Amino acid sequence: MDNPQIADRLDAFASLLELAEANPYMARAYRRAAETVRGAALPVADLVTAGRARELRGIGPGIETRLRELVETGEIAELADLERELAPDLVGLGRYLGLSAKRSVELARALDVRTADELREAAAAGRLRSVPGIGPKTEARLLEALAREREPRPRRGLLLNRAAELVTGVAAALDGVAAGDVRRWRDSCEVLAVVCAAEDPRSVLARFAALPQVVALVEQGERHAVGVTVEGVPVELVVAAPGRFGTALVRATGSTAYVAALEPLPDGPDEEAVYRALGLPWHPPELREEPFRGEPPALVEQEEIRGDLHCHTTWSDGRASVEEMGRAARERGYDYLAICDHTPAVGAVHGLTPDEVRRQAEEIAAANELLAPFRVLRGIECDILPDGRLDLPDDVLAELEWVQASVHGGQRMPRRELTKRVEEALRNPYVRCLSHPKGRYINRRPENALDLERVFEVALEEGVALEVNGLPDRLDLSGEHVRAALRAGLDIVCSTDAHSERGLGNMTLAVATARRGWATAADLVNTRPLRAVLAGRRVGH
Ligand SMILES: [Zn+2]
Ligand SMILES: [Zn+2]
Repeated sequence: MDNPQIADRLDAFASLLELAEANPYMARAYRRAAETVRGAALPVADLVTAGRARELRGIGPGIETRLRELVETGEIAELADLERELAPDLVGLGRYLGLSAKRSVELARALDVRTADELREAAAAGRLRSVPGIGPKTEARLLEALAREREPRPRRGLLLNRAAELVTGVAAALDGVAAGDVRRWRDSCEVLAVVCAAEDPRSVLARFAALPQVVALVEQGERHAVGVTVEGVPVELVVAAPGRFGTALVRATGSTAYVAALEPLPDGPDEEAVYRALGLPWHPPELREEPFRGEPPALVEQEEIRGDLHCHTTWSDGRASVEEMGRAARERGYDYLAICDHTPAVGAVHGLTPDEVRRQAEEIAAANELLAPFRVLRGIECDILPDGRLDLPDDVLAELEWVQASVHGGQRMPRRELTKRVEEALRNPYVRCLSHPKGRYINRRPENALDLERVFEVALEEGVALEVNGLPDRLDLSGEHVRAALRAGLDIVCSTDAHSERGLGNMTLAVATARRGWATAADLVNTRPLRAVLAGRRVGH
């Protein structure tokens, strides 16, 4: 068993523990263990066999026992029992229809159905209303949901990282391509689609139905199927004839409006052929949002990134040391990394006092001795206080090589007040970049009321850049806002805000978001060489 397979089983176990409404800490422990296994450099099966599994972070005696069982027998008996008892296909279908896991299981028991198909039959036969607690209204809603087969959508968008993991996993298992919202790198994904090429679609459809991620099919056609995950998330599969693969991929990638503007699409074995036949240059997926027919710009590429200018360490709420973060950034091929820990006003976690900022400088200097010519920069993520002053005195900020200014508390301030507060901070001569300007958490907290147009004006006057934060639940600025910032003439910075070595990998999300905003390498600060970054603000270019 390889690491991804082991991780999948641990994840499945965690999901079922959640469904069974077992101790939530236990489910979370298995999720964390799955993440550790997925990221492990060594084959975990070998560690388990050698009795060394507990050397991995987050693997305690309980999980170790389960791991040994999994590696030795290929299965976890309790997981198989739970799967039988809880009928994940019913739970997946129930969640897709808007029911809680508990309600789905109750419904299945009351109707005495064991599979998603039986549930559908029971619904069609009008038996739903016989279940206690299901009135005509709920019945109507369920029947309607069962019928909306042409437009499968999750009940709310998935975070990009989660959606990408799901869709690329399915695509890899079927030798297909991840399409839909994931291929356009949308910040919240609703259309999850995979496109495959095969003369005869039957074996691909069968493999799809048998995937561990797919617990039930809600729709199946000759060259098309929709499966749901145990979370109730629908994934669409299209199996195109090889000569039309490009056509199917274009159709499954662009937004509805974008595709409609290109119709009728010609047949083509790949996308290049389709665009050629349309008399257009190939369009990068990130730009297939609004209809357009022109020549796309040379969008910034991941390989052009020379450094990351926002990350945390154990000095505040990060998990790795300065040296570990620096080493991880160097391994990614970067030339520099700015350490930007928090300041005291952040509140929820530890923030650095002026004294600690100076002590951290010694650790950064020591790391630089070890990692040269790679450079760890002295930075800070300095809170913007409610009155617009910064959380550290100017003489401390003046020592630093990179200053991020951030609003954390008080996101709900009224527009004028919040804008004034941020404007004030941008006037501070040491600030280089405004972090996560709109303060949103996707699916959890809406954008703040900040007047971006005004902020762009001030940032341009002062030579301050705007951040594209790569945390999957932030992605802030969004693609749309990046485009507005670039039109205003601003520089942007693609950052990860990493709190661990692995977190540095979110640069792909930040870069993709910048690409959705039509950014080229010249628009980014962190595509430039170190000396350009150290040269200070760039005003009036
Ligand atoms: Zn922050
Ligand atoms: Zn941060």
